[in-house]
Amino acid sequence: MAWHNGGVNNLLPPTPMFDDAYLTQAVAAVLDGGALPAIVQAGHPVLRTRALPFTGQIDEADLARLIAIMADTMRTAPGVGLAAPQIGIPLQLAVLEDLFEVSPENAAARHREPLEFFAMFNPRYTPVGTETAAHYEGCLSMSGWQAVVERPAAVELAYDDEHGTARTRRFTGWQARIVQHESDHLAGTLYIDKAITRSLASSAEYSEHWAHPDIAAARAGLGF
Ligand code: ZN
Repeated sequence: MAWHNGGVNNLLPPTPMFDDAYLTQAVAAVLDGGALPAIVQAGHPVLRTRALPFTGQIDEADLARLIAIMADTMRTAPGVGLAAPQIGIPLQLAVLEDLFEVSPENAAARHREPLEFFAMFNPRYTPVGTETAAHYEGCLSMSGWQAVVERPAAVELAYDDEHGTARTRRFTGWQARIVQHESDHLAGTLYIDKAITRSLASSAEYSEHWAHPDIAAARAGLGF
């Protein structure tokens, strides 16, 4: 073959293969890291691949440590959910917790009820009914930005818990939003894929103009 296969692509590192070998290494790196892991930002391919279903690749003791590290990382950020790909681990695992104090107006407008900590493996959600809700949301992997996402107002979630027990739970309001956002991460989807892009706001602009319980002012001011 005479043609030289040169070009800029040869200079780029290969895209990682997110297989069980990669998963094992990524988990070890987090467990042995000695500090809370960095949160991967948009642009890393681990956020854009369907994470591997959990089929027992990690033993029980390591799994408990991993869940504890993810909980710490989520609370330190702070956030209300963290998916394993966000710390570089291509595994269908996410932790969720929303115990933040919110104003009564905010809680009412967003149907925001406290969500006790739980870890979910291999989650799948389906909308319940046809009602939707549109609110600003952000992501620890898109630091400094938020945008409005219209999502089903209620979902049924099927997942495995940390003991491997299959569970089904219904979520409504803000809890349903968190469940969908974290489940989407495990399918390689970021909220910006579903967002109303004209609503996109930096944290500074959001705080300055649009930090209201509902999105009416942002709709009028940004034209969406
Ligand atoms: Zn996120």
